[in-house]
Amino acid sequence: MLAVQNLSVNYRGIEALTGVSLTLQAGEWVGLIGPNGAGKSTLVKAILGLTPYRGKILLNGVSLRRQRRRVAYVPQRSQIDWDYPITAWNVVMMAQTMALGWGRSPDVKAKKIVSAALDRVEMLPFRNRPIGQLSGGQQQRIFLARALAQHPDLFLLDEPFSGIDKKTEAIMLSIFADLSGQGKTLLVCSHEWGEALNRYHRLLLLNRRVLANDTPQAVMTMDNIQQAYGENIQAAMHDQNVIPFAC
Ligand code: ADP
Ligand code: MG
Repeated sequence: MLAVQNLSVNYRGIEALTGVSLTLQAGEWVGLIGPNGAGKSTLVKAILGLTPYRGKILLNGVSLRRQRRRVAYVPQRSQIDWDYPITAWNVVMMAQTMALGWGRSPDVKAKKIVSAALDRVEMLPFRNRPIGQLSGGQQQRIFLARALAQHPDLFLLDEPFSGIDKKTEAIMLSIFADLSGQGKTLLVCSHEWGEALNRYHRLLLLNRRVLANDTPQAVMTMDNIQQAYGENIQAAMHDQNVIPFAC
């Protein structure tokens, strides 16, 4: 359903991505893994049209630019301004406001959708809290709820497992499995290699270009990790639950 063809992104002379091609099928849950600076966020931003690129990005054969609403984005936590005075409820409602158009007040249907999304991430009791007063994991769940409330076909999640608690991880993994079972497509960025990656259908190992694109077992080999991470191998093993390598 998503096709990225020969994508390159250049930041003032620095080639962040070179000739990246990939396809994602409906219902696929795919990990985009690679070290810091590999270009994972850049790839996601190019798909969203947030950064200029060369190449083609198609959703069901049509340029993605005209179908932006069908793609939901959960940004990297470090890219969000947590001092912005907004409640959890209103963050999730943004998904509906975008659909209804600004200035229109939410109807009963929109409120039901927001309520269901907050409930799914187990955050309904926290709906009136300012987002800045929630823990890292709770904040991540609120942004996932916003994506759910958008009812998209494709989810792009940038480092959703970074700085979260075990409960949030379990909730997110269960939601990802549900979504892919419903035919939704997920692209999940991660710079760490955790055990949870074994639950993904496919992993794309990225470092400026696609180094591997296969099942988790085939991608998580010592050779691949060395090729992608070089001497920063420790960074990949940050997670205590690591490392189910097929050496
Ligand atoms: P990752 O998400 O895998 O850590 P990024 O996509 O954030 O990698 O970054 C890829 C490369 O592009 C890095 O070298 C980074 O410094 C550079 N880069 C990212 N964003 C910008 C930008 N807005 N301007 C210039 N360089 C950037
Ligand atoms: Mg990143």
